[in-house]
Amino acid sequence: MAVIAVTSCAKLEDYKQAVLHAGGEVRIVEHGMDVTDALRDVGGLLMTGGDDVSPSRYGESKHPATVEVAPERDEFEIALVREARRLGLPIFAICRGIQVMNVACGGTLVQDIPTQAKTALDHSFKVPPHKPFDYAHDVWVDDNSLLARLMSERLNGSDSCAVNSRHHQAVKDIAPGFKVVATAPDGIIEAIEDQSARFCLGVQWHPENFWRTGEFRPLFEGFIEAAGAASEVRR
Ligand code: MN
Repeated sequence: MAVIAVTSCAKLEDYKQAVLHAGGEVRIVEHGMDVTDALRDVGGLLMTGGDDVSPSRYGESKHPATVEVAPERDEFEIALVREARRLGLPIFAICRGIQVMNVACGGTLVQDIPTQAKTALDHSFKVPPHKPFDYAHDVWVDDNSLLARLMSERLNGSDSCAVNSRHHQAVKDIAPGFKVVATAPDGIIEAIEDQSARFCLGVQWHPENFWRTGEFRPLFEGFIEAAGAASEVRR
């Protein structure tokens, strides 16, 4: 079975359940660990959600709406992404994860969508406390992508589908080697992938919140399958 390194975060439970329900095994990794040890014998890396990446990491000064996080988490996770890519490990990056991955690979971020992007969409969509998830806006998915292949059942011949949304930042300048594979109707980048890698995908929404009902389970299943193949190679 593929072991997945999952970065520690405040809302870990749904990420764990999503990996377990797709047939993976979870190893929580966090700053303080050595990056090589964190990735030893794992088949894939799941980058989770959380606070903002320090803008100093991509050469910008801090916007008033940017919430600074623990620099140790930035430091650890950026190193983790670079090491996982060096090893050719499958990476699935969610919310803050897509942002960390983009910055780690040389990209930049929109620091605050409400003040820096012209949009009428609410990307910080509040979900009622009794609901595990709620849809906020559509995403348009590029046909020619891993994301579209994984979501073919959900897209069902269409080029868009509804997703949830809890972010005030987003990918701005995309890192070299990556391609934008989903956008919101307002142009905000919602998914990127490195198509030269076995599996290197970032999404801005929260597919892990749907683990009970399975709407986005194929994303996790595809990731775990790629991680299984990577584990075989590492053995
Ligand atoms: Mn969004």
